[in-house]
Amino acid sequence: MNKKDDICIYFFINFEFKKIMCGIVGYIGKREAYPILIKGLHRLEYRGYDSAGVALINGKQQLNVYKAKGKVADLEHAVESKDISGTIGIAHTRWATHGEPNQVNAHPHYSESEELAIIHNGIIENYAVLKQGLIENGYSFKSETDTEVLVQLIEHIKKTDKTDLQTAVQLALNQVVGAYAIVVLDQNNPDKMVAARKGSPLVIGIGENEYFLASDATPIVEFTDKVVYVGDEEIVHLRRNKELSIKTIGNVVKTPEIKKLEMTLSQLEKGGYPHFMLKEIFEQPTTLATSMRGRVNIEHNNITLAGFIDNKERFLNAKRIIITACGTSWHAGLIGMHAIEEFARIPVVVEYSSEFRYRSPVINSDDVVIAISQSGETADTLAAVELAKSHGAFIYGVCNVVGASIPRAAHSGSYTHVGPEIGVASTKAFTAQVAVLTMLALMIGREKGTLSQERYLQIVAELGKIPEKIKETLKQDDLLAEFAKTFTYAQNFIYLGRGYNYPIAMEGALKLKEISYIHAEGYPAAEMKHGPIALINEEMPVVVIAPHCGTYDKVVSNIQEIKARKGRIISIVTEGDTIVRDMSDYSISIPATEECLVPLLAAIPLQLLAYHIAVVKGRNVDQPRNLAKSVTVE
Ligand code: GLU
Repeated sequence: MNKKDDICIYFFINFEFKKIMCGIVGYIGKREAYPILIKGLHRLEYRGYDSAGVALINGKQQLNVYKAKGKVADLEHAVESKDISGTIGIAHTRWATHGEPNQVNAHPHYSESEELAIIHNGIIENYAVLKQGLIENGYSFKSETDTEVLVQLIEHIKKTDKTDLQTAVQLALNQVVGAYAIVVLDQNNPDKMVAARKGSPLVIGIGENEYFLASDATPIVEFTDKVVYVGDEEIVHLRRNKELSIKTIGNVVKTPEIKKLEMTLSQLEKGGYPHFMLKEIFEQPTTLATSMRGRVNIEHNNITLAGFIDNKERFLNAKRIIITACGTSWHAGLIGMHAIEEFARIPVVVEYSSEFRYRSPVINSDDVVIAISQSGETADTLAAVELAKSHGAFIYGVCNVVGASIPRAAHSGSYTHVGPEIGVASTKAFTAQVAVLTMLALMIGREKGTLSQERYLQIVAELGKIPEKIKETLKQDDLLAEFAKTFTYAQNFIYLGRGYNYPIAMEGALKLKEISYIHAEGYPAAEMKHGPIALINEEMPVVVIAPHCGTYDKVVSNIQEIKARKGRIISIVTEGDTIVRDMSDYSISIPATEECLVPLLAAIPLQLLAYHIAVVKGRNVDQPRNLAKSVTVE
C-alpha cells in the first residue's frame, strides 16, 4: 500500500495512531522521563489496561521498577512516595495473555540480576521451552508471563557470551517464535536502550537530543513530528545524544527512514464530549466527508480511488474477491460483499481472518484479497494477508492507520482517513470502511460495465449527500437517550435486518455487547422463525432495521411475527414511514437513500442506542472490560 495508496495522492492528511493490545512508551534524553511516560501511558490506555508499570534508571544508576494492577492512575498512586527520577525510562500498559492481570505479572519485568528490565507487547510462543532451558541454567521466575522468559534469556546470553545489550537482544530474538515489540533497559548502561519489533508496532519519535518511543504516535505527537516506524524484525539502538541505529535480527544494517507525523494533539482530546465514543459518533459527518474527499467528485459525479486505478486489471480479471477481517471490520466486509456482488458481479466471500488463516483455504493467484482493519495491525488479519500473498493473491488493504503493518504488507489499498479512533468500540472507522468498500464496488462495476452509467451516477450523487444525512440522523440523539433508559432492564437484545442491513444488525448487536455487557444477537430477520423466535416474549427488545427499500415488505411480515409473540419493537425506518412506525413500540427515522447506502445511516442510531444504554448502566464506555482497541495478538 505504500507505493500505490490513493491516500498519498489525494490526501495530505496523514493520520497515525492506535493499534494493539497493550501500550509501550519509552524516553531517553535530557528531561525527567516519568511525566512523559505517564502521560504517554494515558494516551495508550485504550489499548489494554489491566495493569501498568514503569522502569527508570536514576542518577545513581539504580534501575527502579514500579507496577500496579488496574489503571495508570493506580500506578501513579503506587509511586507516590517512590524515587521516580531519571532521564531514561520505559513504561507499559498490559493486556494479559500469559498470567492473570496482577501486580507481579505487570510489566516491566526484571531479569534475574535485576540489572535489566523489559516491556513487551505480544506473545512469545515458545516461552515454555525457553523457560525450561533457563530453569536448568539456574534462573528462577517471579511471574507467569512469557515476557519474563525473554528478559532472562537476554541476560543469560549477555552474561554467557559476554556481549553488549544489543547483541544479546539480537541473539535472543533469533531464538524467539512469536510477536513482539520490546524495549530493554540495562542499569549498567544508563545512556542507551534497545528496542525491537516483530508483528507488534513500534514508533520512534526524534526530538532534540532525545528520543521517544511508543506503540503508536499518540504519546509522541506533542514533542516532535519526526518519527521512524520500526520495521518488522528490526532492532533499534537508542543512545543519548547519538544518532539512532537500526539493524535487523539477521544483522543487516538499515538506514532509518524519518517521516513527518501529521497527527494533531486536538485529535486526541475529547473536545467537550463526555466520552471519545460519543465524540467519534458525532464526528461521522466530517469523517465520512474526509474519507470521500478527493475520491468522490460531486461536480463531475465521479469516483476516483487511486489504489484501484493503479491496479485495475487485477480487479477486472479477478475470478473471486476474498474479504478478510475481524469484528466490526468483518461486518463492514459483509456490506462490501453485497455492494461488490451487486455492482461488479464478482463472487465475494467474507472470512474471519482468524479462521481463514488456519484452515488451509483455497487461494488462487487471480484472487483479490481485501484486508480490512482499522488499526492495520490486527494480528489475524495480517497473518491472513501474508498467507494470501504467499499464494500469489493481490492484496488490497482498507485501513485507517497510515503506515501500519497491513497497509505496508498490501500491494495497494485505500486508507479510511477518519483520524484517531480512541473509543474501543469502533464507530467512525466502521462507516468509513463501508464507504470505501462501496466506492470500490462502484468503481469496479463501472469499469467492468456491470453497472450502468445511469445507476452509477445516481449512487455517486447520493453518496455525496451521506455526510449531510448523517448530520440529520444525529439529531435524534436525545430521543435515543430517552429510549435507552427504558431498556436498561434487558438481559438480551435481538437485532434484525436483511440484505445490506443484516450486517448492520450484527454490528448493532456487537456495539451493545461491547460496551453495555448486555447479550445481543444480530440475525437475518427471516431466519428468526427457524429457531430464535422461541426467545421472544414481552420482555425481549427487538431492534429491526426496516428502511423503505429492498425487502421492506418482507421485513414488515417479520415484524408481525415478532409482534405476535409480544416482542418489543424498536425500529429504524425511513423518514415518512408510517407502516412500520405504527407497528413499533419505539421508532427512529433516517433520511431516505439508496439501498446500498442505508447501512451508513442505520449504523448511527444503533451506535447511539448502545452508547446511551451503556452510559445509563454506568459502564466504562471508552474502555469496556476485557477489550482492547486493536488486537495484535492472535
Ligand atoms: N504476553 C505478555 C503478557 O502477557 C504481553 C501482553 C501484552 O501485549 O500486553 O504479559
